[in-house]
Amino acid sequence: MDEAVLSALLHVARILWDALIAISIPAAVFVALAIIVKGRDVFPAARRASKEMRINIGMHILDVMLVSPFVVALIAGIAHAADSANLRILRPGHWELLPSAGVIFVAVFAGDLVGYWRHRLEHTQFLWPSHAIHHSDTEMSWLTLLRFHPFNRFSTTFFDFSFLIILGFPEYAVFAAVFIRHNYGYLIHADLPWTFGKFGYVFVSPVMHRWHHARDPAAYGSNFATVFSILDRVFGTFRVPGPCQVPLGVGENMGKGVVGQLSYPFRLAAYSASFQAQHDLMRQGSVRAVASGPAYVSGN
Ligand SMILES: [Zn+2]
Ligand SMILES: [Zn+2]
Repeated sequence: MDEAVLSALLHVARILWDALIAISIPAAVFVALAIIVKGRDVFPAARRASKEMRINIGMHILDVMLVSPFVVALIAGIAHAADSANLRILRPGHWELLPSAGVIFVAVFAGDLVGYWRHRLEHTQFLWPSHAIHHSDTEMSWLTLLRFHPFNRFSTTFFDFSFLIILGFPEYAVFAAVFIRHNYGYLIHADLPWTFGKFGYVFVSPVMHRWHHARDPAAYGSNFATVFSILDRVFGTFRVPGPCQVPLGVGENMGKGVVGQLSYPFRLAAYSASFQAQHDLMRQGSVRAVASGPAYVSGN
């Protein structure tokens, strides 16, 4: 075999191996939790979710192979632009006044704050068709965190990293915040009946985020935070009426498998449906619905 082809194949194998290692710890944790919580029901539940899980894994493989290098380049570009245009409000040195655990805590909260508003923006007309992919999983599991359209990955990276970099957080705090919020994301997508009791008023629980994915008009436009549910409470979008046993997903038909998911935001019909939904809401005069974007009616 040609040496260049062999080295390319080895490179691909190494990327996939690293991705497998990275996912093996959350996989072990959430499989163990599923067995503990569901008991024997774990097998029919896994069978039910297997089709959606395959799509999530397919999207993830595509992400690590083709999307992640551009995400890394985008982060480097944001850091470079922040430095050359002198956009940083604070410098990493300013954060030395706090212990590193404190800096990481503030970075997680700041990441969640910008993530909250970025997520609300993703529920408006232009960004909804690419964010709808994440919402299309009807059998939500921890693997749903891996279902994001490349457009959605870029918007998330752009907004979240820009905010943290402009606030001048040191590199270790930026990456710790991303790591913590990413892994917390697995927890809130997991199929676990946990509300966290009183802690649920401060931290997002799996039940709270399940309501965000509910295909139920009453649930649209709520629960946008990743870690701190307190943000939804402050901004008036907190809604956890009890255990979430309604159907999940969206009304849009995205076609089959990974290809259907990837091509959806390229279809003009996705945007006209999104705009129509917004228009209908305006006629209904629902201010909250208009602010929340088309997901508010996507289950109709
Ligand atoms: Zn959403
Ligand atoms: Zn989600």
